[in-house]
Amino acid sequence: MAQLSDDCFAFGGALLSVDAALGRIEERVTTLVETETAPLGGVCGRILAEDVVASMNLPPHANSAVDGYAFAHADLVPGRETVLPVLGRAAAGHPLGRPAERGAAIRIFTGAPMPEGADTVMMQEDCVFEDGRVWLKPGIKKGANRRHAGEDVAEGAVALAAGRRLSPADLGLAAALGCCELPVFRRLRVALLSTGDEVRDPGTALPSGMIYDANRFMLAALLNGLGCAVSDFGIRPDREAALADTLATASAGHDLIVTSGGVSTGEEDHVKQAIERLGNLHFWRLAIKPGRPVALGQVAGAPLIGLPGNPVAALVTFVVLARPLILRLAGAAASAPRLFPVRAGFGYRKKPGRREYVRASLERQGKDLVAVKYPRDGAGILSSITQSEGLVIVDEETREVAPGMTVEFLPFSEVIG
Ligand code: AMP
Ligand code: MG
Repeated sequence: MAQLSDDCFAFGGALLSVDAALGRIEERVTTLVETETAPLGGVCGRILAEDVVASMNLPPHANSAVDGYAFAHADLVPGRETVLPVLGRAAAGHPLGRPAERGAAIRIFTGAPMPEGADTVMMQEDCVFEDGRVWLKPGIKKGANRRHAGEDVAEGAVALAAGRRLSPADLGLAAALGCCELPVFRRLRVALLSTGDEVRDPGTALPSGMIYDANRFMLAALLNGLGCAVSDFGIRPDREAALADTLATASAGHDLIVTSGGVSTGEEDHVKQAIERLGNLHFWRLAIKPGRPVALGQVAGAPLIGLPGNPVAALVTFVVLARPLILRLAGAAASAPRLFPVRAGFGYRKKPGRREYVRASLERQGKDLVAVKYPRDGAGILSSITQSEGLVIVDEETREVAPGMTVEFLPFSEVIG
């Protein structure tokens, strides 16, 4: 297993902007996992480890884009209808098998290889066929309805670049180029645990003063969505020794440990001491809201991300920081999600100097997409996330968003699942 340097997360500053944090991840974090070759059927969502270079043209041969008649454009009578005898037939999988004669047309179907000598196809709807001859309308351009060999991907071109997360269409393209397996990065093995004496598993009794574990289920789904193989280490109590034991176990056989809770600087926050006992820990105080410090560290060589306990803060810091970090460890190239300009359907004031993520949904108003803010924004209000479609990102310098202003919207669909 590749190792990160022990101090790759070291950071001495007080408050770290999101861009600085992302820059730091890009600089210091490298792929942690080996590559393997896997059959095409099993690699959707995985990260491609090497460029796929086309070993052939796609399409492999020039072919017809329509059902109709193929001919040499030079055989048309300029400005008038042309009548040509139809002297052959080519269908998909059934090439003509010889060059086409000059002064004649070939009946042709979609996907059939273009016969040598023919360069243009007229759609059957535009032709009249009678008694073995075809009447061709004037005005068609040379090369119409002909697909060139290699017009999709030329032999030798990079069809899929290393570092991309493979989509269904990527698999289609690889298959069209004759690949039956692809080199991918091994899945990142992630150990996941929740911390807190008050946190209980759903499905068990809930004594007074306790809460059910929301984070572990949310984070496991987020990690699975990024292609990680997640091991569930359950809920650990707020006791340094118990946490240290679990972290030591988790560090063996995992590429990454993800925790939630226990990383603020209160006296009940024991993750910090446990990690410091086993390795080293750095707090990145991100200048964001909602969000608290995110702990980044190493436990016996395994990197660790400690997310805040508040579910909303856990989700936002996961999306903003953990997601790019995990994608990078897992071998992905640049992973910045796309943002979409929309109109603000709300007014909002904030302190300058930090980036704020406002929970919102989109509404169509005439030609505009308008972001409507979710009315409640506490860091513990998880339903504010389930009832929203994404986050309006209000950058550091902005002090006030006025209704009607253009703002950047990050749909959850870009970063989740
Ligand atoms: P902490 O970061 O441990 O100080 O926790 C901050 C807040 O998040 C507290 O109200 C915790 O009870 C709550 N919390 C911590 N862990 C979880 C969890 N796994 N699921 C839901 N809420 C949690
Ligand atoms: Mg706690």
